[in-house]
Amino acid sequence: MSHYKVLLPNYSVGSGCYEDIPEITKYYGKRAVVIGGKTAMSKAKAALLDAINGSDVKITDFIWFGGDSSYENGDKLKEMQAVQKADMIFAVGGGRACDTGKYVADQLSKPVFTFPTLGSNCAACTAISVIYNSDHSFKEYYYPEPAVHTFIDMDIVADSPADYLWAGIGDALSKEPEAVFSSKDDDLFHTPLLGVQLSHSCTKPLLRYGKKALEDCRAKKASFELEQVTLDIIISTGIVSNLVSGEDYYYNSSLAHAFYNGSTVVENSKGKHLHGEIVSFGVLIQLVYAGKPDQFDEIAAFNHSFGLPVCLSDLDITAEDIPQIVERAKDTEEWRHKPADVTTEKFMDAIFNADKRGKTFAEL
Ligand SMILES: [Zn+2]
Repeated sequence: MSHYKVLLPNYSVGSGCYEDIPEITKYYGKRAVVIGGKTAMSKAKAALLDAINGSDVKITDFIWFGGDSSYENGDKLKEMQAVQKADMIFAVGGGRACDTGKYVADQLSKPVFTFPTLGSNCAACTAISVIYNSDHSFKEYYYPEPAVHTFIDMDIVADSPADYLWAGIGDALSKEPEAVFSSKDDDLFHTPLLGVQLSHSCTKPLLRYGKKALEDCRAKKASFELEQVTLDIIISTGIVSNLVSGEDYYYNSSLAHAFYNGSTVVENSKGKHLHGEIVSFGVLIQLVYAGKPDQFDEIAAFNHSFGLPVCLSDLDITAEDIPQIVERAKDTEEWRHKPADVTTEKFMDAIFNADKRGKTFAEL
């Protein structure tokens, strides 16, 4: 029999949780280099330095990751002395900073620790880096080792721009419908079975606590609700992701993300909408395709009340853009792993039908 490994996220969460750094990192070395976003590093720097003060851990440099998660930026970082000499990489910031940190660490065979400063996606603890081209369009997925440990300081998350949390909620809404849909035809063995089951814990907390969490993020309050939603976005979806992506199976994303990846080629929409915002409309497409009208209505009502898109025009996408979106979507990981009954025509129909049914919510 062959063998395989599963790496699950370890994490610390709450106000002041960076205090765990010396204890958690002690088996991995002493010299750490921070690779992160500019704003993220400015917000986390004092807490990081405070946390390691008096310990054996030394942060040798704080380096900007380059602004996008691209091979070009990652390869530049790989060449830097401070990065090469470090025992460990601390990736600080949002998804792109964490993805870049994971890529660099993987390339240099160093352990990576992540410090998400916003609740926007599960990049902090997944074994995937989303790689973009230098023109910001989606390039491909790279599969690094995941972070050894993720530190989520809720005071720092509460101080982040609320829009990212808002979009992060939209993105996390995709986990359950995509994992369920993409695995529907297969007889699941232990690991993906666990992952798909856990995906059922992703949607409800978002619908239940999402609004209060967003209000609290706007008020910079590290509340219980904000912590629940942040854990959902970063940890729950991350655990599912690591369980449902294996060497010969992939149930981590499906049509919602195929739509997102396809939409990155639409000039008129490019750069105007956040990843999770676009994905949350992709979720509606996914639910149309899966024939789940009740869930569609539940999510569409939530999206509408939450300012997330319910139709194409909310994303500055027109009917004329759909053929090129579908064309690009077909050249994605999601499409390569799609269930057998997914066809181009039905995907296109599902986009139009989601738009049509979604518009009835827009008019409410
Ligand atoms: Zn996503």
